[in-house]
Amino acid sequence: MRVSKLFGRTLRQVEAKGSSGLRLLARAGFLRWDPLSFLPLGAMVLDRLRTIWGNIIGPDVQKLYLPFGEALSPEEQALRIASREVASYRELPLRLELEAEIGKSSPFYLPEGKAFLLLSFLPDEEMAQEEISGLWAKVEELLRVCRLQSPPPAIGKGWDWIVPEPEGEERLVICPNCGYSAPSVWAQVHREPLPQEEPEPLREVATPGCTTIESLASFLGVPKSKTAKAVFYTGEDGGIVFAVIRGDMDVSEQKLSSAMGWVKLRPSTEGELLFAGIVPGYASPIGVKGVKVAVDSSLRTGQNFVAGANREGYHLMGVNYPRDFQADFEGDLALAKAGIQCPFCQSAFESASGFLVASLRVSGPESSSARGLSFNTPQKKKANPWVVLLALYPYKVMEAVAQVNRDEKGLIWPKALAPFPIHLIALGEEGLAEGEKLYSQLKGQGIEVLFDDRDESPGVKFTDADLIGLPWRVVVSKRSLSQGGIEVKSRAEAGSKIIPPEDFLREFQSGNL
Ligand SMILES: [Zn+2]
Repeated sequence: MRVSKLFGRTLRQVEAKGSSGLRLLARAGFLRWDPLSFLPLGAMVLDRLRTIWGNIIGPDVQKLYLPFGEALSPEEQALRIASREVASYRELPLRLELEAEIGKSSPFYLPEGKAFLLLSFLPDEEMAQEEISGLWAKVEELLRVCRLQSPPPAIGKGWDWIVPEPEGEERLVICPNCGYSAPSVWAQVHREPLPQEEPEPLREVATPGCTTIESLASFLGVPKSKTAKAVFYTGEDGGIVFAVIRGDMDVSEQKLSSAMGWVKLRPSTEGELLFAGIVPGYASPIGVKGVKVAVDSSLRTGQNFVAGANREGYHLMGVNYPRDFQADFEGDLALAKAGIQCPFCQSAFESASGFLVASLRVSGPESSSARGLSFNTPQKKKANPWVVLLALYPYKVMEAVAQVNRDEKGLIWPKALAPFPIHLIALGEEGLAEGEKLYSQLKGQGIEVLFDDRDESPGVKFTDADLIGLPWRVVVSKRSLSQGGIEVKSRAEAGSKIIPPEDFLREFQSGNL
């Protein structure tokens, strides 16, 4: 490709918005915003990513095409189609891939925007686990070739790969002591045991105006950790989920959704609560009917909690779980954030930001059953498959790579994603003549090159080359020729060397460069 013909110029300045990486991508002519559009250089990076994605998902995959703009999110559409098509164990494992635009209401809590999706349908848990480990390893490999790092995934029903970066949007927690790090919504947490007490009988106390945990704790003179916090969410089917957690902790909506079989939740309205017979501000898990109760295991860490009495102005003391109420789900629902304790060393977490580049979701047979997804086993029985969903966010990967791999002069592309491996610069008349020769030679050998054949000063050409950031810069000039060849410089390193063009070609093709 000749720079003189390349669509999209480099810019000296762009609007001061977005991350530094995004601004560099705009300056270097990879993209423009308002509306977001990828120019040829950016489109080539996306093509490289698509190729890497193809390696991740492997050959045994079938492509699905879904038109945009449907009411259902694309992953839900795919599940619905599968629920009608999948009939027998002979069709499993089944892997479907699609490119999608994720909207606001993803039941799997995928972020809005462009995604490459892989949905794997597995007949049993063992194969689901194998699929998960295989995909983890492939995502880790993708991050490695993109020169990105993210906290390693942990066992669970959900995971997000987040590349730590102060200019990012997503939240991470980091343990300053042992180094454990994870997305806030998925991180494991420590639940400090409370001093043991003899369980007391339930008793109602007047707590006028105490509709928050803070006001309740200070009114009764108890620590927040001795209260049971009630949080309400409504699913898409209108069902209410009543989540209970210790008052000093918060609920992760994502963990709760995965526990409920992946339903898109939203905070319940006061009207919905009243309709369900729940008194807002004084809600009680005791005696509640017609809602699903989910309990965080923090309620197992102590006795005699304070909880709502489901009566305006009253709370119950001496609440003991599971003596006084039962749960439809009990487990880990806690949101990790700064100050919450690390599960491995009990130090307080610190929070950090980052770029969310990929997600994994695991959905079990119960959830498949609820979605009408089933198959006939060899024994002619009905069974429900496991579904493993992997999502890669190509625009975010590109932004994260630009953010992490750069210096004050511009981008520094990893080989795997660079639109071209070589940026060829010809200077002066002699340089141009020799450059043309080298350009056709390289092209003849199937090597993609960006050839700066413009009538511009060396300064302009070097500045642009540094800004665009291709892995190798090759300069042909009167000076280099008089010194015996072409000047070769790696974008990532400071020094350059002059070698004969044949040597460069040989080294490049043997992979030494
Ligand atoms: Zn720790």
